[in-house]
Amino acid sequence: MMTFHSTRGLAPETDIRGVALAGLAPDGGLYLPAAWPHFSPADIAAMRGKPYADIAFRVLRPFFQGIVPDADLRTIIDTSYGAFDVADVTPLRQFDDSFYILELFHGPTLAFKDIALQFLGHMFDYLLRGTEKKLTVIGATSGDTGSAAMAALAGRAHIDLFILYPDKGPSEIQRRQMTCLDAANVHAVAVRGSFDDCQTIVKDMFADAALRDELNLTTVNSINLLRILAQIVYYFFAASRLPENAAPCFAVPTGNFGDIYAGYAAMQCGLPVAKLAVASNSNDILTRFFASGRMETGPVQGTLSPSMDIQVSSNFERLLFDLCGRDAAHLRGLMDNLKTRGAFAVTAAQMEKARALFAAGCAGDAQTLATIADVYKAYDYLLDPHTAVGVKVARDLASQLPQPVICLATAHPAKFPETVARATGQTPSMPPRLAGIMDKPERTALMPANKDVIVDYIKRNK
Ligand SMILES: *Cc1c(COP(=O)(O)O)cnc(C)c1O
Repeated sequence: MMTFHSTRGLAPETDIRGVALAGLAPDGGLYLPAAWPHFSPADIAAMRGKPYADIAFRVLRPFFQGIVPDADLRTIIDTSYGAFDVADVTPLRQFDDSFYILELFHGPTLAFKDIALQFLGHMFDYLLRGTEKKLTVIGATSGDTGSAAMAALAGRAHIDLFILYPDKGPSEIQRRQMTCLDAANVHAVAVRGSFDDCQTIVKDMFADAALRDELNLTTVNSINLLRILAQIVYYFFAASRLPENAAPCFAVPTGNFGDIYAGYAAMQCGLPVAKLAVASNSNDILTRFFASGRMETGPVQGTLSPSMDIQVSSNFERLLFDLCGRDAAHLRGLMDNLKTRGAFAVTAAQMEKARALFAAGCAGDAQTLATIADVYKAYDYLLDPHTAVGVKVARDLASQLPQPVICLATAHPAKFPETVARATGQTPSMPPRLAGIMDKPERTALMPANKDVIVDYIKRNK
């Protein structure tokens, strides 16, 4: 059985069940496996051409062994990915020799968050089966996590879900996907503040041990390792569709560093990857970090790619833990600096390690629009604004990225119709999944960015 520990080193080791149901470790750290499983070149070659669910089973099995029997894991995977629009689940599209797009937006809410959250929803159900336990699931969202979590958890008997989102953050369609849902156990909470404010409130709730126990808290944010594990799969899937022996680069539009961290985890599990390109919008804290070795938060800016309007990338802590040689005490010092002074710096040797694996760049709104226009003209293909940030950064960094380069398409363009129309003159057609959404009544609660007020609301409404 695999054991998991916290990046902060002050929480007891646990198994995958403990990880899933706790979300954040009780010491405020993030869970990681004591050791990543290793897939040999032969294991990886055996994935070639296999169906998505098959690859998912092979990749996820080592994490769940001894807790979830193989047959049950297989059923959970088949049910989760049966809910997608296309047989390949995350189809890989080739545009030319060096430019591929991995479409991650064919799930119920049309963003890549569905891939992990559909799995997490069914896994929560499975792990709670036969217990009287009721979970309170909380999450902060910049737009897509909220709707994907709601779609995955609506109507589930053992779960109450509360989603905090910045009141001015999400696009209208993103907001409506959260507020137009008709299920008594899911609640949208509009917070007067930024995504970072929402995420801080979620983390502060976890830091309150009495509250954590009283409510049986867990989270759907990518601080929950279960999400990362489910996302490792599509890196293996993408590689399984490339010509043999290609070690691709992946360009990943990044906010909370979850999706790209899953790529890093895939490398730790043995997947050959030449480089991971971290793509940010004008909230370029990560670009500056990779240039300078100094992480320094600033105010959040609103952009055309709202799901990446984040300054504090939670999952970066998982990478930092490795850069620190898995020294939890050292990591705690850096995280303290970030909390109290809004900054920390790493050493030149640590930066060298990071730069061997990652390249980083950013794109502003004007470049995002130009990239959407350009790709439409060249390939008759509509990018959503987040994906466009990734494509632009991949182009800017081309000299550092050995071919082939796979850009992750994180949302369907129809989720951002105004931006896509502004760039191309084309309004993406509304997929059937979104039919009627503009006409439904909305249900939300507007709250100040104050933990106590929000906790009170949760207690009254769960
Ligand atoms: C959440 C999201 C991102 C950022 O992903 P992280 O895992 O937070 O880095 C990028 N694009 C879209 C469309 C998203 O919903």
